[in-house]
Amino acid sequence: MQILDGKLVAQAVKNDLKIKVDALKEKGKKTPHLAAVLVGNNGASETYVASKVKTCVEIGYQSTLIRFDADVEEHVLLQKIQELNADDNIDGILVQLPLPKQVAEEKVITTIAAEKDVDGFHPANIGKMIQGQPAYIPATPYGILLLLEHYKIETKGKHAVVIGRSNIVGRPISILLSQNTPTGNCTVTLCHSHTRNLEAICLQADIIVAALGKPEFLTADMVKEGAIVIDVGITRVEDKTKKKGYAIKGDVHFETVAPKCSYITPVPGGVGAMTIAALMQNTYLAATQ
Ligand code: NAD
Repeated sequence: MQILDGKLVAQAVKNDLKIKVDALKEKGKKTPHLAAVLVGNNGASETYVASKVKTCVEIGYQSTLIRFDADVEEHVLLQKIQELNADDNIDGILVQLPLPKQVAEEKVITTIAAEKDVDGFHPANIGKMIQGQPAYIPATPYGILLLLEHYKIETKGKHAVVIGRSNIVGRPISILLSQNTPTGNCTVTLCHSHTRNLEAICLQADIIVAALGKPEFLTADMVKEGAIVIDVGITRVEDKTKKKGYAIKGDVHFETVAPKCSYITPVPGGVGAMTIAALMQNTYLAATQ
């Protein structure tokens, strides 16, 4: 069993980007600039945005954090996005999800200019991705592909089972794994909350991507020997023994599943770390193309 070390691979991606940014600086060119919009004070969202901003600093990007109170009116947020769209100094825009109920996520996503949509959620980018055209690929699926690529994992002809069909993880990774690319060519089964006989389907999988948000859901009896398991889940579970009062759990029961796997991602230190690296990669693209 080999651990797919997201921290290590993310660091390699970031180092590579830093070299490119240093080269831009030397030539007197503008460095990539990411604008992050955070609404409210959800603990997990605060943590994600803080680590995105910190990574920008590490690489040498410019970053701007724009905060709104949880009760912000939708039109105020949309107006801000339009301003960011029109600002030539901003290359990439991300709005941290989830958003409060009074704000329609689809409206926010479609208001971000497709060429600045470094999260890859805009329908124009999703459409291009489905057709295999150059596009911003959503950061978490893109991070998974970078991980597979780094460890030279052969995906061709394998049966990949994706659990979860969200627009940001499950559905895009199911499409990407099925495409005719070096990290694709899988036969993909996309499972969700209405899937029957999930255990039996998982037992047929060469690759399992668990992205359902249920801590330790995937257990050893659902995984065949030698499978590759990618754990996307991040859930805060109360744990009084921890300083913060919670532990981060993935969707995979790591202790029992790992011994059966050929490769597995840990949580933390797996897909989460890669997501930020992929976002940085998209931001570099946005600034330079
Ligand atoms: P979501 O809630 O939008 O979607 C969950 C999906 O899982 C749904 O499609 C649902 O049909 C499916 N599902 C739920 N229960 C199921 C069951 N019992 N059997 C089969 N399918 C079931 O979630 P999301 O936004 O895709 O996130 C999933 C998890 O990934 C969460 O823990 C989230 O925090 C995490 N996440 C991690 C990263 C990262 O960077 N690592 C990024 C995004 C999301």
